[in-house]
Amino acid sequence: ENTLHIIGGGLAGSEAAWQAANRGIRVVIHEMRPQVETFAHKTGNLAEMVCSNSFRSDDDEQNAVGLLHWEMRQAGGLIMEMGDRHRLPAGGALAVDREAFSEAVTERLMAHPNVTVEPGEITQLPEDGQWIIATGPLTSGALAEAIRAETGQDSLAFFDAIAPIVYAETIDMGVAWEQSRYDKGDTEAEQKAYINCPMTRDQYEAFIDALIAADKTEFKEGETAGYFDGCLPIEVMAERGRETLRHGPMKPVGLTNAHKPDEKAYAVVQLRRDNALGTLYNIVGFQTKMKYGAQTDVFRMIPGLHDAKFARLGGIHRNTFLNSPRLLDSEMRLKSRPNIRFAGQITGVEGYVESAAMGLLAGRLAVAEITGQTLPAVPHTTATGALVMHITGGADAKTFQPMNVNFGLFPPIDAKGGRRGRRDRYKAYTDRAKTDWQDWLAASAPARAAE
Ligand code: FAD
Repeated sequence: ENTLHIIGGGLAGSEAAWQAANRGIRVVIHEMRPQVETFAHKTGNLAEMVCSNSFRSDDDEQNAVGLLHWEMRQAGGLIMEMGDRHRLPAGGALAVDREAFSEAVTERLMAHPNVTVEPGEITQLPEDGQWIIATGPLTSGALAEAIRAETGQDSLAFFDAIAPIVYAETIDMGVAWEQSRYDKGDTEAEQKAYINCPMTRDQYEAFIDALIAADKTEFKEGETAGYFDGCLPIEVMAERGRETLRHGPMKPVGLTNAHKPDEKAYAVVQLRRDNALGTLYNIVGFQTKMKYGAQTDVFRMIPGLHDAKFARLGGIHRNTFLNSPRLLDSEMRLKSRPNIRFAGQITGVEGYVESAAMGLLAGRLAVAEITGQTLPAVPHTTATGALVMHITGGADAKTFQPMNVNFGLFPPIDAKGGRRGRRDRYKAYTDRAKTDWQDWLAASAPARAAE
């Protein structure tokens, strides 16, 4: 049968529905609100934005999220069309009138002859037919349990605990060095899997003071209910005792400073490779509730990170997400039940725009499958392709945490004619992405009028 069922009419589910319906597929959106509520949503509208009203940077030449906007517009995306229509003045960012936006998305989908919205919560994994699960970071408890029963206890997280991620090229390797603790590992690559930043006693004490003094965000009411199980923020560890971090994630044992082999560090901050490309490193054990401004100030106190640029800052949020690198194939299908795709924040992307982009792609992939068309793989040089590559294969399954789109996910560009400046490099990334995305769209099914 030619029907696509989508669970969850949020940012991702709405975009997936639009893409499929415009290609002649009948779509049923199963949405639990307003009957069943979440702690963050306030209305029964589709595509409700639960917090800020920003789609972030709209710069499609110098910014990876701006490029994602561009790619979705080229693909006839509903979320971008309604975002543009209800745009508010906000400099280089795309801010939207949140209520008008989600009302407009709801109206458009309800008016589409191929779309039906069926109210109510889905509590089981569907057996037959083509499905997309796009239930988001606040997936209802019953469905989350059903997913866990299918995929295993460690495959679905209820919180993200995001350690800050640094661009490798911004770490000062004149101070830091590569080494795994006790040189563990069989290959040289494994023995050098970490980057280490040494601290003297004075530097450590100053760092603890800064952690304790930093501005922090609080959990929202209802956010931690029932689920919060450990993974303490570093500043909470620091508050528990000044030595706690030195005996925890910052312990100096099993490491020798390659630059000063005779000096014993008082504490060591470790960074671990975060992607197969080796362009991103996360600071091990540094999940935090510090505000973003405070994070950059505090983390740049770490020797070797004084000029660090961050691909994303740390956080801890209520967030239901899959261990996608292990569970999903490259077409976003659950390996153990290929009639089910996942899309949106639950796949381990982070953000309104990223979630909608994964909905767009899942919708297109489902259409191809239903109509028996073979789509070429999405080029990993595009923002959409780099994101889906990261969640379904590029990221390490053992340490997988949700990710924003950023240029560190893109295959590096050859520095023809020497090292390029950052602006040139970003422009080269976005130029390459635009060409490749247009080629991919041309090979994908065009929109057609509803029957
Ligand atoms: P959602 O938009 O949440 O859509 C999922 C839908 O599925 C919901 O409508 C829900 O009601 C429905 N649903 C859930 N379970 C079931 C079920 N069993 N049966 C039927 N329907 C179901 N991102 C940003 O870019 N900026 C922000 O400021 C921001 N703030 C956030 C604040 C909070 C509190 C949270 C939790 C997340 C925030 N995010 C933010 C992250 C993320 O971008 C948004 O959550 C985004 O809405 C995710 O899109 P989605 O489509 O994956 O999920």
